[in-house]
Amino acid sequence: MRLNPFNTSNINVRSSSGGGMPGGRAGGLGCGTIIIAALGYFVFGLDPFQTAATVESVQQGSQQAGPASTNEEEICNSSQYANEACNGLQSLNQTWARVFQEQGLGDRFQQPTLDLFSGSVRTACGSGSSAMGPFYCPGDQTIYIDTSFYDQLARMAGNSGDFARYYVLAHEYGHHIQTITGISGQIRSAQQQNPRLANQLSVRMELQADCYAGVWAGRNRNLIEPGDIEEGMEAAAAIGDDTLTRGRVSSENFTHGTSAQRSEALRAGLRGDDRVCDEYTVLR
Ligand SMILES: [Zn+2]
Repeated sequence: MRLNPFNTSNINVRSSSGGGMPGGRAGGLGCGTIIIAALGYFVFGLDPFQTAATVESVQQGSQQAGPASTNEEEICNSSQYANEACNGLQSLNQTWARVFQEQGLGDRFQQPTLDLFSGSVRTACGSGSSAMGPFYCPGDQTIYIDTSFYDQLARMAGNSGDFARYYVLAHEYGHHIQTITGISGQIRSAQQQNPRLANQLSVRMELQADCYAGVWAGRNRNLIEPGDIEEGMEAAAAIGDDTLTRGRVSSENFTHGTSAQRSEALRAGLRGDDRVCDEYTVLR
């Protein structure tokens, strides 16, 4: 995509530097199945509900994070990926602010913060690490991405195109939308009331975030380059629970949806109307 260069007045960005995890960062996982499994469960972030629990599980061994750097200009220009992420964030902010305004909900829109951390990070949801891949923490309305994850994404999915990276960011942004509209809270209550449906509800939340990623892309069609959508579809297909677990996990334990479901959710959103995404979390 050819996004406009960021202007720091349009985005909230910081960079927390951590002490790193014992045994090295995500790269220490090596390649192959382990990384693919990690990608599967974490590539599109932790579910808002699972964040705290999952983050807790890696807390052991994480070290105290260093102070966050707040020089946005410097952070956004620190690497090509950081630059892309800042441009993407600006575009997402502008697109979603417009969607809220169109629906008369302009005053409910809030920008999330993007934390381009390295190593490990302390969040309102507990400690996070680069091994977890990108995630969104509702408690501090922040999207956490260690940009070294994008190198893994390129290695694993054989996909180094920028659209796949924007898709990851736009999916995490989708979880932010679910937070400020109150959808996450409603789903969380439903999960607590009916734990047997917790996974299924989690899948619906994830698919809705994919759908929201599509809405953003669909509303910026003029910036899309040939091959972008295919790239997004490939990424969506590569990270379905069925593909990643190769049939080892039964469908009721899926938390993100199948490859076909994820591609379909992205495609649905691409039409540009966020209301088609409501379907995913209508509770019946
Ligand atoms: Zn997600």
